[in-house]
Amino acid sequence: MHTHSSFSHDAKKGSVNGNCEAAISLGMKYIAFTEHYDVDMIKTSKTRTFDLDGYRKAVFEAKDRYGDKIEVLYGMELGDAIKEKNESYRLVTTEPFDFVIGSIHAPRREFDFLSMTYDKTDSEMIAVFEEYLEDQLNQIAWAVENGERRFDTVAHITYPYRYYKQNGRGYLMDLKKDYREEFSEIMKACIRNNIALECNTSGLRQQMGELLPNETLLRRYRELGGELITVGSDAHIPSDVGKDIDNACELLKTIGFRYITVYKNREPIQIKI
Ligand SMILES: [Zn+2]
Ligand SMILES: [Zn+2]
Repeated sequence: MHTHSSFSHDAKKGSVNGNCEAAISLGMKYIAFTEHYDVDMIKTSKTRTFDLDGYRKAVFEAKDRYGDKIEVLYGMELGDAIKEKNESYRLVTTEPFDFVIGSIHAPRREFDFLSMTYDKTDSEMIAVFEEYLEDQLNQIAWAVENGERRFDTVAHITYPYRYYKQNGRGYLMDLKKDYREEFSEIMKACIRNNIALECNTSGLRQQMGELLPNETLLRRYRELGGELITVGSDAHIPSDVGKDIDNACELLKTIGFRYITVYKNREPIQIKI
């Protein structure tokens, strides 16, 4: 429930058809395309554009082409919505999405944790991380204004940690114990508002070597009563489609989840694991 094709700026080797064919060969029943739409970046960058018409057309053609073999879902990974609330709102209320992921990729004052500089002092680095946690709550609050549900799942909630670790600043926090309360508040906000939590497997094939969020936090979500959980590979190339989904489902089962969630026409469907 989380793949990228060449319509995303960072997945130029992917293609809608290539991802579908990879998923079919693995026997998957669903594939969701969730291209990056980092709203403020698209608005302010001269080089970052998004071909929304082309994307919609490609996914709907794939729905027709592969529909007897796999359910192809039209989605979006809406990034940093609270930085551009009006444009984000317009997008999610006008496009015929099956599924919308809510992500935070950017610290408050920079474009992305990926490109942020990591030479700040320890206390500055910690402050940036804590702002990120606050923004997760702010973004969920925005998503459910007026009783709406502007995105369906909260993606990779430990995202900054991947880059803190890659840049030698991972010692600043141990996400097996630190920020338990803050992450619990984010997960409680999901549960209260019928928004799913994402279990993103991309970390297993990267330096951080763990799911986003990690097992400790997934257990906490279950303890809090979390039921809705989407699982995504976050593939940026067809060969990563479906990676570690089976392993993640096995783990979720041992933690006590009985279902994973997929979304069609913005409505949850519970799939037994
Ligand atoms: Zn993301
Ligand atoms: Zn993604």
